[in-house]
Amino acid sequence: MKNTDHLQEIRDAVRTLCNSYGEDYWRELDSVGGYPTEFVKEITASGFLGCLIPEEYGGAGLGLIEACVVLEEISRSGGHPGAAHAQMYVMGSVLRHGTAEQKQRYLPAVASGELRLQCFGVTEPGTGTDTTSLKTTATRSGDKYIINGQKVWISRVQHSDLMVLLARTKSIEERSKKTDGLSCFIVDLRGAEERGLTINPIDAMINHHSCELFFDNFEVPAENLLGEEHKGFRVVMDGMNAERILIAAECIGDARYFIDKATRYANEREVFGRPIGQNQGVSFPIANCYAQTEAAALMVDKAARLFDDQQPCGAEANMAKMLGADASWKAGDTCLQTHGGFGISREYHIERKLRETRLYQIAPISTNLILSYISEHVLGMPRSF
Ligand SMILES: Cc1cc2nc3c(=O)[nH]c(=O)nc-3n(C[C@H](O)[C@H](O)[C@H](O)COP(=O)(O)OP(=O)(O)OC[C@H]3O[C@@H](n4cnc5c(N)ncnc54)[C@H](O)[C@@H]3O)c2cc1C
Repeated sequence: MKNTDHLQEIRDAVRTLCNSYGEDYWRELDSVGGYPTEFVKEITASGFLGCLIPEEYGGAGLGLIEACVVLEEISRSGGHPGAAHAQMYVMGSVLRHGTAEQKQRYLPAVASGELRLQCFGVTEPGTGTDTTSLKTTATRSGDKYIINGQKVWISRVQHSDLMVLLARTKSIEERSKKTDGLSCFIVDLRGAEERGLTINPIDAMINHHSCELFFDNFEVPAENLLGEEHKGFRVVMDGMNAERILIAAECIGDARYFIDKATRYANEREVFGRPIGQNQGVSFPIANCYAQTEAAALMVDKAARLFDDQQPCGAEANMAKMLGADASWKAGDTCLQTHGGFGISREYHIERKLRETRLYQIAPISTNLILSYISEHVLGMPRSF
């Protein structure tokens, strides 16, 4: 059995760091649509944000299992780990598919916090989950690509220096198969609005800083192609298992946050002259959430270990994401119910966390699409799309 003492040390250190922010910090940001600048600076300086970046590029050189602990603890503290998770998995695309020159240019700066790489531009309004049909084009012209098209729900674009963008380099008619003809680019967002990128923030249910983007003859240097031309779908797919496992770890943090909070309140709150937790109608749903969360956490752990051992982990990553998202959503609903009317009050933070964790039924991949993956790729049932 592997020694896991260091995981507890990471957990304790992240918990200490998060405690100095507190739930009111996140509530205030949520209410004004603010970005957690101070938190991101501190978690970068502590080395936790760059934990997946190899030591040769200034990172901590740790694995996904350690990164999961970091994200879980941010969520469990009542915080919102969006800015942290995005940098971890977007960075992975550059690490796995970047040229030596790209890695040298970007990764040390990302590790030090000099550059933020928190933005991934894939989703489009016209095609949604059907990524291989996306319409944004990147047309080669000399030593540049010219980008035209539209993206939607692209998070943190106004708070990131760099974005990894997926665009079409071959028309649908020319492609040899569905996944052919898409390419990834490292886009420098600094000053991008003066160069043909329009950014419209979306008024949304959660503070994810998601935006609609319009590219109008936006130029990207050809040297910023990430991975092989026309094979960008592979670049995106490669990062997806890591993304799903990291998001699943966040869900576990959310679920544990809700269970801790519900248990505390069930013990403290007295109605009819006794703690509400004495009623099994109150305690059993919390106990049920606990059991489901612990089961989901085992799947997250298994998926992360397979990923770190470079073993196939598609099924486990998908199942971890779905089970984690289900556990956190159910725990959030149960926590709110346990608090009665106070659960609705913003002061108790539950409604904010519940809105945040609801996202994970939809993004970065919806529960239906995970069930579709399991049906087809694990159980061998017919392909549906
Ligand atoms: C807050 C937020 C942040 C986001 N951040 C980013 C980001 O930074 N970068 C980025 O690229 N994207 C981002 N997204 C987009 C996200 O990945 C998509 O919303 C998600 O993939 C679903 O796509 P869609 O919204 O177009 O839904 P659609 O594809 O329109 O699907 C709508 C519904 O139909 C279901 N459905 C569709 N097809 C099938 C099928 N074949 N079988 C069964 N059910 C099906 C889906 O499960 C879903 O419930 C973000 C989204 C949100 C809400």
